[in-house]
Amino acid sequence: MGGDNLSAVLHGKNDLRLENRPIPEPGPNEVLIRMSQVGICGSDVSYLTKGYIGDFVVKQPMVLGHESAGVVASCGSNVKHLKPGDRVAIEPGVPCRMCEYCKGGKYNLCPDVFFCATPPHHGNLCRYYKHAADFCYKLPEHVSLEEGALLEPLSVGVHACRRAGVTIGSTVLICGAGPIGLVNLLTAKAMGATKVCITDIAQNRLDVAQQLGADHVLLVNTGDAEVLAKKIQELMGGMPDITIECSGAEPSIRLGIFATKSGGMMVLVGLGPPEIKVPIVNAAVREVDIRGIFRYANCYPIALDMIASGKINVKPLITHRYKLEETVNAFETARTGIGGAIKVMISCE
Ligand code: NAD
Ligand code: ZN
Repeated sequence: MGGDNLSAVLHGKNDLRLENRPIPEPGPNEVLIRMSQVGICGSDVSYLTKGYIGDFVVKQPMVLGHESAGVVASCGSNVKHLKPGDRVAIEPGVPCRMCEYCKGGKYNLCPDVFFCATPPHHGNLCRYYKHAADFCYKLPEHVSLEEGALLEPLSVGVHACRRAGVTIGSTVLICGAGPIGLVNLLTAKAMGATKVCITDIAQNRLDVAQQLGADHVLLVNTGDAEVLAKKIQELMGGMPDITIECSGAEPSIRLGIFATKSGGMMVLVGLGPPEIKVPIVNAAVREVDIRGIFRYANCYPIALDMIASGKINVKPLITHRYKLEETVNAFETARTGIGGAIKVMISCE
């Protein structure tokens, strides 16, 4: 295989370099992929600016990127369902397939997962990358590689809305209108939610949410959580059945609890400080269930069908496009949010 493998390699905090790396050899159950589109996620930005997320520390050079799609370049000897030239979305987390979580279908909880661009594993913001073939999903002709890359955040929305129990007629509060809040908005609507209210502390993000179909938006940069909860009740004509928290901010989680209808459900998608103060007795005595969310399991096929069938349109999330050679600028745009950046996409072609 000729050609270079230019890769965006993070060497440590604020030390991102473009380097040529060897082109990997796929194993029997793997495919080699010529990378096409890679979206920048908040976690990539955190590794760049802080050098760690929680217990995951960048200790050795790591290729960034995990929201991705590309074209199959070659297949390992056991691979039957893909062939060179197939366009695929890459599910970045490959679990062990052996533990009780994997066997139980909750493979997102596998303690022995390979996940792109989570230390010590390399991501795929590069020209060539190999991946487990069964975690690559062939895209229909009318689904673009950019949409393929967006299956990653969309899968977070699918998993969160399923665990929240969103269904026909649900009323849903989404806290935080970043890319993750917005994919939850699109998914909740597609699953039949009749009223979705979304909050943020930035008006420009709420404007995007409104364009994407939010029924109500609320700017929450001032005000007490209980007062804001009353405002949400007035806006929505009742308290929401479900809250999907997508900011991780303490004031927002507090608001989420106060706002949710008694007997309702709040799911925690946003990951902020590891310990915070919340009105737990309020949740307890009103039987507001609180559930955690970790990535997704068995969601890529559904996310793909939602896009392929036209039920969800993720394209408006993409606000900026860069080439692999411009990765440093792309990260600067994603980090600062300049120019109303929502999803920054890098082309590796
Ligand atoms: P983001 O930073 O782009 O979006 C967060 C949004 O929340 C921003 O628009 C911000 O203005 C808003 N916000 C901040 N404080 C707020 C408040 N008090 N009330 C309402 N909104 C507020 O990030 P993102 O990419 O959209 O991701 C959102 C969160 O989801 C992050 O914490 C991320 O770590 C987490 N996440 C979790 C999982 C998971 O598996 N649980 C997966 C992906 C992302
Ligand atoms: Zn496992």
